[in-house]
Amino acid sequence: MPGRLLSSLVRAAPSSTPIEGVKSQNPPLFPPHYSFEPPANPKAKSQESLVMDAFKRHSIGSRHHSDKKSPKAEPQKAATMNMQVESPPILFYNSPQVSSGALFSGQLKLDVKEPHLTVESFDMRLLAIVITKKPVAPHCSECSTKISEIHKWEFLKAPVSLRYGEHTFPFSHLLPGHLPATTHGVLASLDYYLDAVATTSTGEKLTYKRNLDVKRAIFPGSDKHSIRIFPPTNLTASVVLPPVVHPIGDFPLEMRLSGIVLNKADSQTRWRLRKLNWRIEEIQKFVSPACSKHASKVGGEGKGILHEDVHVIGSDEVKTGWKTDFEQGNIDVEFRAACDMALKPLCDMESPNGMEVKHNLVVEMVVAEEWAPLKKLNQATPTGAARVLRTQFHLIVTERAGMGISWDEEQPPVYEDVPASPPTYVDDYDGALNDDAETLNL
Ligand SMILES: [Zn+2]
Repeated sequence: MPGRLLSSLVRAAPSSTPIEGVKSQNPPLFPPHYSFEPPANPKAKSQESLVMDAFKRHSIGSRHHSDKKSPKAEPQKAATMNMQVESPPILFYNSPQVSSGALFSGQLKLDVKEPHLTVESFDMRLLAIVITKKPVAPHCSECSTKISEIHKWEFLKAPVSLRYGEHTFPFSHLLPGHLPATTHGVLASLDYYLDAVATTSTGEKLTYKRNLDVKRAIFPGSDKHSIRIFPPTNLTASVVLPPVVHPIGDFPLEMRLSGIVLNKADSQTRWRLRKLNWRIEEIQKFVSPACSKHASKVGGEGKGILHEDVHVIGSDEVKTGWKTDFEQGNIDVEFRAACDMALKPLCDMESPNGMEVKHNLVVEMVVAEEWAPLKKLNQATPTGAARVLRTQFHLIVTERAGMGISWDEEQPPVYEDVPASPPTYVDDYDGALNDDAETLNL
């Protein structure tokens, strides 16, 4: 049922709310699946073709493809449709809980090829299409695809007769900031599509589809300072990380390892850094839903199977560049880390339907113990003892904020000042004048 997901998608989702799909433990959920490699996609279909398949399978799309039996050239349509998007690319600022959303506006253009064309109805829908790569029933399209309507523009309230030539229909909508961003993960994908349909008096359906890429940028705050201890040693790592990082480009990490020296009556033991590695782990989760036919497989309607995938999207060894100060008892190191673009890093996201992407930076150090008499500190001998120090930090991976101005901070003009209906296009109509075509939906 497309409607069910819609309600869960558009609901504001405080992070403490339990995921609808995993509320019940009866029957127990399957154990989460872990893997360190993105699962290979045997069919290797493009995201675009997956989405188009979804359109075809669902009634939303299938009616546009009726009676298309012949591969021959199609008869000329009564009109063609095109779109001009006027708003900037959709970029939500900050977290779903506080984002003010993004304005989406443009014009649909209907180019009439006949002397007169009567259009009975004309509307456009913004759809969210979620495709899971691990459906509850392996070959069930209802299990694997959820289409939900985010918004609908109705351009006509009554039939209109349009003359030969181009007619424009302006549209605008404030996309709510809690919508999750477009995400193509290894367990599931989320896409947004615009689907416009004009129905003529002869029953012909003129259609237009377009992908809408939705992004999110979390504003950077101040640097994050963290302290980690490594019992039973006296070692302490104090780390400075940027508040957010991006899929493209590197970022700095500063670390001070203290407590490396332990002085006794006439000797000293101390830790020397031998090896330093870092890696960025991407943790993807998705709750695969079941269609009504297969709900019994997961213990009833509204439940699902939680899948989890953890894989590395960047790693390296830091070979040089640390400074060891045995007098102060510190090791200072500064290095740059980055996501590997070849491993297709995703931005953080969280959706009420159970789709989630998060990241951790894991730092591993190997320290070796040395012993030296206090009188001859430069004649240290390795004791043979060594330790692996492993620690991790939550990393927020997000889009760059660009100009960093959300629509509600832009002044002037303020949103309310935009005229409800641009005056130019109404003149294009032959018949029943209709200036109620989608105005601004606040
Ligand atoms: Zn199913």
